[in-house]
Amino acid sequence: MDFVKNGLLFSKNTINTMFGNTEPWQIASITASSILTSIWLWNFLVQDESFYVRTKKFAFTQIKKIPKIAQKIEEETKQISDTFENDVIENTKSEKYIVKLPVKGIPSDEIINTVNRYLDLGKYKWKEGYISGAVYYYDEKLIELLTTVYGLASYTNPLHSDIFPGICKMEAEVVRVVGDLFHGGSNVCGTMTSGGTESIIMACKAYRDYGKNERGIKNGVILAPKSVHPAFDKAASYFAIRINHIDLDPENLTVNLKKMENAITKNTILLVGSFPNFPYGTSDDIEGISNLGLKYNIPVHVDCCLGGFIAAFMPLAGYSLPPFDFILPGVTSISADSHKYGFAPKGSSIILYSDKKFRHHQYYVCTEWPGGHYGSPTIGGSRSGGIIAACWATLMHFGLDGYVASTKAIIKTKTYIEEELRKMNDIFIFGTPTTSVVAIGSNSFNIYRLSDALNSRGWNLNMLQFPMGIHICVTHLHTKPGVASLFIEDIKKELDEIMKNPKVELTGKIAMYGMSATLPDRTIVGDITRYFIDAMYYTPS
Ligand SMILES: *Cc1c(COP(=O)(O)O)cnc(C)c1O
Repeated sequence: MDFVKNGLLFSKNTINTMFGNTEPWQIASITASSILTSIWLWNFLVQDESFYVRTKKFAFTQIKKIPKIAQKIEEETKQISDTFENDVIENTKSEKYIVKLPVKGIPSDEIINTVNRYLDLGKYKWKEGYISGAVYYYDEKLIELLTTVYGLASYTNPLHSDIFPGICKMEAEVVRVVGDLFHGGSNVCGTMTSGGTESIIMACKAYRDYGKNERGIKNGVILAPKSVHPAFDKAASYFAIRINHIDLDPENLTVNLKKMENAITKNTILLVGSFPNFPYGTSDDIEGISNLGLKYNIPVHVDCCLGGFIAAFMPLAGYSLPPFDFILPGVTSISADSHKYGFAPKGSSIILYSDKKFRHHQYYVCTEWPGGHYGSPTIGGSRSGGIIAACWATLMHFGLDGYVASTKAIIKTKTYIEEELRKMNDIFIFGTPTTSVVAIGSNSFNIYRLSDALNSRGWNLNMLQFPMGIHICVTHLHTKPGVASLFIEDIKKELDEIMKNPKVELTGKIAMYGMSATLPDRTIVGDITRYFIDAMYYTPS
């Protein structure tokens, strides 16, 4: 789920009822006269700026405990939750919901028709390149091959390696081949996973246990840039690891190495860098992080989930890059998503280690189960052999030449977009985009307005916070003639429009975005996100 990316379609009414012209922190004290007392209390509290800063969190917790306010917040969040549901209802209104298992099975042709109709729901023309990232390649010939391969392997399961040795061979070959792409030596090893998040979660788990078992660190801490993917926070949350986020250098949006070094303690189990990060598409100084890893004897993970399958081919496509992979002696693991620029169907990623001593700590083993000795490499028990086979087939079918060609086309398109954007007044590009993500900001107007305007022209971009921006993740779908130039033309037109009146207030759904980026009470933002996820599971009552 991508809260920032998927449109939060708030009605203007909701926004105005909820927030009007009040400051965000005043949400808790909206309207009801019976809560005047608390407003008085609040005003008293905020008289002193620094006192305000120090106590706002505490005050929020206390104020939200006042029953009337709690009730008001609940009413408002209910309204937001309804808005999310209404969006889902609107998007799916042409299809009725199935809420009970059909008594008689539905015939194949009807199933196919229904699937086609379901897949037609949604307003974005993603096959024509109107979206950022999400779908990295779309070709019906490739899909035909992959569905055949998936079909052949669809009932296999690498958990039963004795029954399906061929599936295990495919997984081993994928790991080996990708390890080679990242200059892994003869010891390079790893596993396939279900996606980038699982690759990262597995690496964090491996380093937690490596730290505990090999280095005696009981309460390990991960040091990661502020721009790192939330999968690291998810791992920290699932596995009770502490994570310390290191500031970025504001001018280039890459991690501040000095601050990372200063944050190292005897409990540090892992240093992380992204090549590149998702929000701004900028890359941390991996060589610098690798050197810190060597200096302090701490493992280093490079998150290449997004850029791996482009960065590995860029030198061959004629674009030079700083070293970022196992060429650097301090780098001990890399995550790379085959289901992004590897162009494999969704559900596969690779986690690689420089040495087998790390991978052992990723595995789970249970020796006391009545069902036998149990061991599995990743979170899943049973896994999809079909997905492994389809990923294997994608890699083999493209080959080195295929990936170099697609990388050339994608980087050329990204470079065109970046250069055209740099020519425009009133917007700027964040740092140096390393691979395929170009992030835009503005000092003249609220950049979310540009995103909103482009949205009404059918474009679906990603919205960023801290600092505020929007980005486009250029995929193979944008390399089709006319797509990138249409994007640039649409930006020019909307930019002209915005600059006629650069300082107007945000309205509608972007008002919500603008606000949630500045809302000091993050628990409210968290709750809103939970309602957003709830809405994904909407069925009529
Ligand atoms: C996409 C991404 C991930 C997580 O991958 P999923 O496949 O969505 O789980 C991790 N890091 C970066 C930089 C990414 O872009």
